[in-house]
Amino acid sequence: MDEKNVRCSFCGRDKAEALILIAGIDGHICEVCVEQATDIVKEELFANKDKDKSKFLLPSNLTPVKIKEYLDEYVIDQEEAKKYLAVAVYNHYKRISVDLKDDVEIEKSNILFVGQTGTGKTLMAKSIARLLNVPFAIVDATVFTEAGYVGEDVESILSRLLQVCDYNVQAAEKGIVYIDEIDKVARKNDNPSITRDVSGEGVQQALLKMLEGTDVNVPPQGGRKHPEQKLIKINTENILFICGGAFDGVEKLIAKRLNTQIIGYNAAKKQQIDRENMLQYVNHLDLRHFGLIPELLGRLPVLTYLNPLDKKALEMILTEPKNAIIKQYRKLFHLEGIEFKITKGALEYIAEKAMEYKLGARGLRSICEAVMTDAMYELPSNKEVKSFELDLRYVKDKLGKSKLAKLKVAS
Ligand code: ADP
Repeated sequence: MDEKNVRCSFCGRDKAEALILIAGIDGHICEVCVEQATDIVKEELFANKDKDKSKFLLPSNLTPVKIKEYLDEYVIDQEEAKKYLAVAVYNHYKRISVDLKDDVEIEKSNILFVGQTGTGKTLMAKSIARLLNVPFAIVDATVFTEAGYVGEDVESILSRLLQVCDYNVQAAEKGIVYIDEIDKVARKNDNPSITRDVSGEGVQQALLKMLEGTDVNVPPQGGRKHPEQKLIKINTENILFICGGAFDGVEKLIAKRLNTQIIGYNAAKKQQIDRENMLQYVNHLDLRHFGLIPELLGRLPVLTYLNPLDKKALEMILTEPKNAIIKQYRKLFHLEGIEFKITKGALEYIAEKAMEYKLGARGLRSICEAVMTDAMYELPSNKEVKSFELDLRYVKDKLGKSKLAKLKVAS
């Protein structure tokens, strides 16, 4: 074809009219048609994605036992919490994947985890979402305030969920949301009317409906809703909410309740109470005394606890889970052609230090980073080194020189 007569094979514009004409084997396409074609492709792809995700089916061979086995690969200890979570999740997805036409309505089983920081609450929620391959969002309850005050609307919880699944509403409606630090919205005062409590009871009230299941108008970008904003409607009926919190001080309330009960009718029981881990006896009443309103607790029917992690558990966390920290270092060194080993003494020492810092398993990573940074920095440029062993002396030496050594004094 004559150069001058080249035209877009889709819209017919010639070279003078189009900014760009891209040549193909048998024709040309202009920039406007490229853009339109891209839009069509996007629309088609997203429409199909919606269809796929909207029919959520629990994998047919998945049972609570299998769910727990999967959790075992990632989460050390916490047997009771894993079991509760497995059952709740199984029932939740049974409820939404089966079309229940008869009159028995299965209620939602939102979950509440009580446990110190770094014991695996978020990890459990995250692992379960990975297993089920559903959208998962983590939000922090501390940012929410009652409408009209500085802070975020509770609806923005759902904005996060929408964002992780590219605004695919059907997918978001089957997702899992983990609300961290739910204890921070507890009512500060037993008498709600004395002081204004903008981040407490008002927020709990706002959470109620969302947790139960309703249509919520969600600001797509999160934050505060404002009048001109276009809102997206999401139904929360099938969204599983998992809440977690440390509930510092609830042990005292539990002890108080147990003591009165024991004095009341069975003094013999007193010996059986494990004073070291009072959280295992937690019930809804204790959390009510802590400051969560009964209506909200009613929407979180599955209540379970996480054990504080002891030294043994922390040692296992370093080496056992599928993506354990030590496994990650081994892999990184392997990529450099270096064999990585760690002695029992070194593992024990790291676990001991993590206990001292009182950050749960969260402390393990910072300790490992402090210990390993020099080796990670130097070894890749030293081609002669073929193996590296982390022993007690090395760990003590590096940790002694690091900023972390000061942490204990500070705390
Ligand atoms: P939190 O209870 O405060 O939500 P996380 O679940 O965020 O704690 O734990 C922080 C990190 O510590 C996790 O990413 C994980 O690596 C590790 N961890 C905590 N608890 C466990 C556990 N029980 N088993 C395995 N790893 C754990």
